[in-house]
Amino acid sequence: MSAASAPLVPRLKEQGYEPELVAQRRAWIEKITGANLRHTGSGTIDSRDMRGNIENPIGVAQIPLGVAGPLLVRGQHARGNFYVPFATTEGALVRSYERGMVTLTRSGGAEVRIYGNQNRVAPVFAFESVDEAFDFSLWLRAHFTEIQEEANSTTRHGRLEQIDIFPTGRDVMVNFRFYTADAHGMNMIVKAADKASRWIMARTKAKRYAVFSGLESEKHAGAFLFSGGKGKKVVAGARIPAETCKAYLHATPEMFHKLWQHTVIGHIHAGVPGYNGHYANGLTAMFIALGQDVANVVNSAIGITNFEVTEQGELYASVTLPALTVASVGGGTGLGTGREGLETLGCFGAGGAEKLAEIVAASVLAGELSMGGAIMSSEFVAAHEDYGRNRPKEAAGNI
Ligand code: NAP
Repeated sequence: MSAASAPLVPRLKEQGYEPELVAQRRAWIEKITGANLRHTGSGTIDSRDMRGNIENPIGVAQIPLGVAGPLLVRGQHARGNFYVPFATTEGALVRSYERGMVTLTRSGGAEVRIYGNQNRVAPVFAFESVDEAFDFSLWLRAHFTEIQEEANSTTRHGRLEQIDIFPTGRDVMVNFRFYTADAHGMNMIVKAADKASRWIMARTKAKRYAVFSGLESEKHAGAFLFSGGKGKKVVAGARIPAETCKAYLHATPEMFHKLWQHTVIGHIHAGVPGYNGHYANGLTAMFIALGQDVANVVNSAIGITNFEVTEQGELYASVTLPALTVASVGGGTGLGTGREGLETLGCFGAGGAEKLAEIVAASVLAGELSMGGAIMSSEFVAAHEDYGRNRPKEAAGNI
């Protein structure tokens, strides 16, 4: 089939979400590719509920789902034991997080606190000269209340809390920082910032604007996430007695600290922003299981893990995630297994997002502990041999 003659995916009327139209589209792709899409067509989500979450639907992707716990969380929103769903095809991942969770739980749990809770979008405004751009920055400060009113007029739950100004030559980037309640909020705040930007354009010498400048770091990894944040800034930490550390993680607190020192240097060599073992592993699997926007793992997986030895000879382990974008409302949170996963944690719907952020951060801490232990005790390869090489054994062994 030539590039010019390759057929477009059939639109099948505007109402392309009716089950029979989804089946027709699936049959079309089966016909032109020769693939058998039996599993794709075997989902239980009503295709009519997919509107707003997918275009050209042909069915569902199914991914194995496991659960790890108990995880004792001592947050301000999440308190108690949780069993956390993970969707992944990486053998050994769930077992690894489970081991870290049990270690935390037997040590008295993970303390978690949220320091910041704002999502942001940063339009850029263009001017004729540095002088005009400078005057604009002063004007913005003088008119913040009106800008706030314009932005807030588009949303019931969102709230513009602050703007920061980043001049570059004769351009000015304006970082709009919003509280987004239980939503991830990108749809919400881009709409709000766009309305405010139009209002600004009508009253200033700005020649043009672009609603995204890149400074917002949406689905980008970068150092600005540490100071600028994105979503929830969350810290989780725990004190692991030396005996518990040895019994469950097969390494001493001193071994953890040595691992930290050596691998921090590796991260510096590699130019990685921050330091962590594998935040992206657990975050991706949890995001899929919990109906989150999986592409936000790119910003959410920025952070700093710390392994210290306390004066009492315990391990003090912590994770700091400055840009954790999770939601309990909106996006894919209400759809099929995503909703069920959130309900498993008691986080679905209004009032659930901060609790979810605390559970996710504690889970990330569990993953760092387990991976650190596996590397220091030289069990890392063996664990993947046992659980992750397509030669699955019965899940055996004590944790
Ligand atoms: P959304 O599903 O578009 O909107 C969520 C809406 O739920 C809010 O705007 C809010 O309405 C309403 N809501 C009801 N109860 C709420 C509560 N308790 N807390 C907060 N809001 C509540 O989702 P979104 O969170 O704004 O955006 C997330 C989606 O945006 C993801 O699916 C992501 O893939 C996508 N996304 C969009 C962009 C973009 O540039 N547009 C960029 C990246 C990702 P009110 O606003 O009226 O309060």
